[in-house]
Amino acid sequence: MGAVTIRNVRKAYGAVEVLHGVSIDIEDGEFVILVGPSGCGKSTLLRMIAGLEDITGGDIEIGGQLVNDLEPKDRDIAMVFQSYALYPHMTVEENMAFSLKLGRVPKDEIRRRVLNAAQILGLQDYLERYPRHLSGGQRQRVAMGRAIVRNPKVFLFDEPLSNLDAKLRVQMRSEIKLNHQRLKTTTIYVTHDQIEAMTMANRIVVMHSGNIEQIGTPLELYDRPANLFVASFIGSPAMNIISGALDGTSFIFPDGKRVDLGALPSGVGNGPISLGVRPEHFSLDAQGVQAEVVLIEPTGSETQVTLRLGGKDIVGVFRERIEAQPGQSIGISFQRELAHLFAAEDGRRIER
Ligand code: ADP
Ligand code: MG
Repeated sequence: MGAVTIRNVRKAYGAVEVLHGVSIDIEDGEFVILVGPSGCGKSTLLRMIAGLEDITGGDIEIGGQLVNDLEPKDRDIAMVFQSYALYPHMTVEENMAFSLKLGRVPKDEIRRRVLNAAQILGLQDYLERYPRHLSGGQRQRVAMGRAIVRNPKVFLFDEPLSNLDAKLRVQMRSEIKLNHQRLKTTTIYVTHDQIEAMTMANRIVVMHSGNIEQIGTPLELYDRPANLFVASFIGSPAMNIISGALDGTSFIFPDGKRVDLGALPSGVGNGPISLGVRPEHFSLDAQGVQAEVVLIEPTGSETQVTLRLGGKDIVGVFRERIEAQPGQSIGISFQRELAHLFAAEDGRRIER
């Protein structure tokens, strides 16, 4: 029904190409998130799926139908934007009913669909209110309600939570995921926030400068990032990346400190390489290497510590509370079987 196929899609504005041929196969009912830094082409791709931008090259299919030349209204999609743009002079109910009225859906049917959406979104008690008398979160829910009443094949979201404060963002994140679990409508969701992507998506598409860097489930991306870009983009605090060299099975830090990495794949030779270690893979270890404490940031549940190790500042996250003062040294080690290796030439992951 709501499968979406994006095949070698390109977009140019005049002479400038901003999407360089991207392909994604989205299954019916999937929740796929496009994530990447500002300007990488996420909104452009979403707007092409919606039919709001021409396609310079390639094909887009929705529900098995080629939609390259189909008007937005004929694509059976519903889009929710960052600026939810509710009609200020209409009540919540009228806002949600508006597109159905335009589509000449019978009155009873409109009422039924609006009440159903209001119930899903917890808006039953607000149907007579005007947008100015709603909180930011409630307005965002009404914007989603307008999309839900249309019962489309595909929902498209473009940074729908960016205008909300941090606490509300976390709450709406859960609500959107719960709604997807209930409705099971194919959803394509754009964000620059990797935490949103990790927590909500079935699969994540990491984009960078108009290309796709990697497609996978959140934990595939986290555990086996395809390259240095994905490794540094997914995860917070970010993976520590240390440029050094291999000598046998030893990694040599910039200042000459050596750490044994254990078994390595046969194809990996001596020479320059990048080592990646996630902050939570460090542990306190009196027998380990000595690292100088630079900064301690307790969150209560854990302690984030910036440490000078091997001539580089790295970040570790520990479950323990740490008494040491900046300038003092503590012993640490890392789970070497979980450390990542990336080729020095092109930053590509080296499978271990
Ligand atoms: P994102 O949503 O990932 O932040 P966009 O898809 O909005 O990125 O933009 C991708 C690139 O396309 C950017 O470099 C942007 O400047 C460019 N771009 C977007 N819209 C236009 C336009 N109408 N004309 C020219 N360039 C555009
Ligand atoms: Mg955008």
